[in-house]
Amino acid sequence: MLSVRSAYIHIPFCRRRCYYCDFPVSIVGDKPPTGTKERINGSNSGTIAYYVKVLCQEIRQSFSTHQPLRTVFFGGGTPSLLSVEQLNQILTVLDQQFGIAADAEISMEIDPATFDLEQVKGYKAAGVNRVSLGVQAFQPELLKLAGRSHTVEDSLLAVDLVRDAGFANISLDLISGLPHQTLEQWEDSLEQAIALSPTHLSCYDLIVEAGTPFSRQYKPGNTPLPSDEVAAEMYRTAQRLLTANGFEHYEISNYAKPGSQCRHNRVYWENRPFYGFGMGATSYLNGERFARPRKTWDYYEWVELVRAERQARGDKEGEDVRELRSQGVKQQRAEDNLAEADLLDTVMLGLRLAEGLDIARLIQLFGTTAIARLWKCLQPYLNDGLVAIAPNSQLNQIPSSGSLRLTDPEGFLFSNVVLTAIFEEFE
Ligand code: SF4
Repeated sequence: MLSVRSAYIHIPFCRRRCYYCDFPVSIVGDKPPTGTKERINGSNSGTIAYYVKVLCQEIRQSFSTHQPLRTVFFGGGTPSLLSVEQLNQILTVLDQQFGIAADAEISMEIDPATFDLEQVKGYKAAGVNRVSLGVQAFQPELLKLAGRSHTVEDSLLAVDLVRDAGFANISLDLISGLPHQTLEQWEDSLEQAIALSPTHLSCYDLIVEAGTPFSRQYKPGNTPLPSDEVAAEMYRTAQRLLTANGFEHYEISNYAKPGSQCRHNRVYWENRPFYGFGMGATSYLNGERFARPRKTWDYYEWVELVRAERQARGDKEGEDVRELRSQGVKQQRAEDNLAEADLLDTVMLGLRLAEGLDIARLIQLFGTTAIARLWKCLQPYLNDGLVAIAPNSQLNQIPSSGSLRLTDPEGFLFSNVVLTAIFEEFE
């Protein structure tokens, strides 16, 4: 039986759009923090409340394996624009539709200057037990240049607030490779982050996405973006400083104190199934990915269409129906290549993890012929040390057990080279 124990919930609202962002978000402007009287009466509350209503409808009419969720992740956007009541509404519907395990990890992305103490205490009381705070940088000029809607002081206050609310599991997001960012500034951001004693850090390298304000201003490889050499040094610096301070480098961009890895994100990297709800969210069920519309009104129309279809068929809300329309729009892959597509996903995602891929499991899932092709394609990288096998064995012979992984930091740093070679071999 298909076992789905994780759900991603997309909250697509932000106060303003950061200059590097191409996520499906809807901009609501700078309003007082959620949860205050002003907010509830403010002009945004209607927009967000309507979205929450549609989102809950989507969850209620979705396919369910009726197994309690072990991880729930509120991502965005800025989920901390939700009021405590709205968060409770969504968690209640999730609990009714799937159940939520008593020891579930419930994560929420929150942004500085979007919440107060009362609100974050409310999130904790609602069941959130892990927060991921988007601090990004500790230099005012870099925050401004990136179009972030908070200051360094807001970030420091935000950490105090989540601590005061009783959160022990706190992750901080940092971004490297920003225009004008120097290696010294990056090192300073890492040190300031370490001094705040988070349990987890995500360090993302800026990607200049097409269609963003950054893409009109900056060209990859050109100043004022850091050169490839400086960007690589930033990666190595993060690896060196964070591991020296007790963080495990458990995934290409993620570091955790022992016992604090993000359980939800591991589901993605281990290529396990998950539900996805909300505008632009993707779910992964039965080996297939289903995407929801990335525009607000398209999403609302789609949820209504599914509701109307179900009603026409006489289905009741919450019924366990294996109905593709209720899962989103199936993402097309070559039909005769599903096994290779699955292999590709498993390998590309699994190599992001420090422990890499379990060779015996790969052989069991995909057979020796496919693994021989993978092995052949990885030979140059095994030879030059970007890929390693454990325990050590002869490189010219496919092992039947052990693990296959990218080395840290060089294999992780040049992962795109290795992953591109694998992609070209199998796609
Ligand atoms: S806060 Fe995050 S999701 Fe919102 S605009 Fe900025 S980068 Fe995008």
